[in-house]
Amino acid sequence: MTDRVLHVATPTIASLPLSTAAGRAIDLKLENLQPSGSFKMRGIGAACVEYARRGARRLLSSSGGNAGIAVACVGRMLGIPVVVVVPETTTARARRLIEEQGATLIVHGASWQEANERAQSMAGTTDAFVHPFDDPLVWAGHATMIDEAARTGVKPDAVVVAVGGGGLLCGVIEGLHRNGWSDVPLVAVETEGAASLRASMDAGRCVTLDAITSIATSLGAKRVCERAFGWTREHPVASVLVTDAAAVDACLRFIDDHRIVVEPACGAALATVYGRVADLERFERVLVIVCGGATATVDQLQAWATSTR
Ligand SMILES: *Cc1c(COP(=O)(O)O)cnc(C)c1O
Repeated sequence: MTDRVLHVATPTIASLPLSTAAGRAIDLKLENLQPSGSFKMRGIGAACVEYARRGARRLLSSSGGNAGIAVACVGRMLGIPVVVVVPETTTARARRLIEEQGATLIVHGASWQEANERAQSMAGTTDAFVHPFDDPLVWAGHATMIDEAARTGVKPDAVVVAVGGGGLLCGVIEGLHRNGWSDVPLVAVETEGAASLRASMDAGRCVTLDAITSIATSLGAKRVCERAFGWTREHPVASVLVTDAAAVDACLRFIDDHRIVVEPACGAALATVYGRVADLERFERVLVIVCGGATATVDQLQAWATSTR
C-alpha cells in the first residue's frame, strides 16, 4: 500500500483552438482529469502515502476547496479516515463533493483561519495534518506532471501555471529542474484580487495581502509559501495578472473549445492564451497546465460572467 501512486498520468494534447487564439503552439497538460478533479491529487496523494507509511491513522484538512476534496479522495483510496474542517463560507457544492468521498465534514468558523485552527487543534499523534501547498512532499508529487511532460520529448519554451499559495509553482519548477529543463521559464498567473506572489515579488520579500477580492477562490492564499517566493530568485519567473472577468471568460471559451469545465483559478492561466498577453510573445511553444478544479459549475460560471462584466 505504501508505495502506491494515487494520481493518474494525464495526457498532453496540442490544442488547435488555443494555438490559433494565441498565434503560437499551445500544448495542454490535462490535470483536470485527476480523480479529484484537479492537479492537487498528485502532491496530496504522494504526501498522504508517505504519511501513511510513517503511521498516520487519520488525515486532517482545513480546505473547503480542491485540496480538501483531494485529501478526501486520497483517504478513501488508502482506506484511512479523513476529517475536513471548513468555514461557513464553503459552498454547498464543495461540502457535498467532500462528503461524497466519505470524509467527515465539520463546519466551523466564519473564515478559513478559524476552520484551520480547529483542524490543527484536533491533530493527535497518529493524525497527519495535510497542508494544501506548503509541504516539500506535496511539491515533489506535483513535479511528476513535468516528469510526464518530459517523457513526451517535446520541450516547451515556457510553462504557464496559475498561482495560489505557490505549491503548484514549486512542484512545476522542481519538475523542470529534475528533468534537465531548468532553463524553461515559468509564467505565473494570478487574478488581480489574489496577487500574493506579485505583491511579494514587488516587495522583494514574502508579504501577506490584507484581503482576497477575487472570485478565483482556489487562488485565494493571502501569502505564498516561502519556497515559492524563493524560486522567483532562482528560476526565471514572469508574473502575469488577469482580471476575474478574463478568467471567467476563458473558462467559458474553453468549454466551447475543448468541452472541459474548469474553475476560474484555471481560467486565469488560460486567459493568458486567449488574451494574447505580451509575456507569451517571445515563445514558440508553450505548455499550459490545465490545473482544473471541481467546485465551479457551468451555471456558476455563467452567473460570474454577468456579475464581473
Ligand atoms: C490549488 C489550486 C490552484 C493553486 O495552487 P497553489 O499550489 O495553491 O498555488 C490553482 N488552481 C486550482 C484549480 C487549484 O485547486
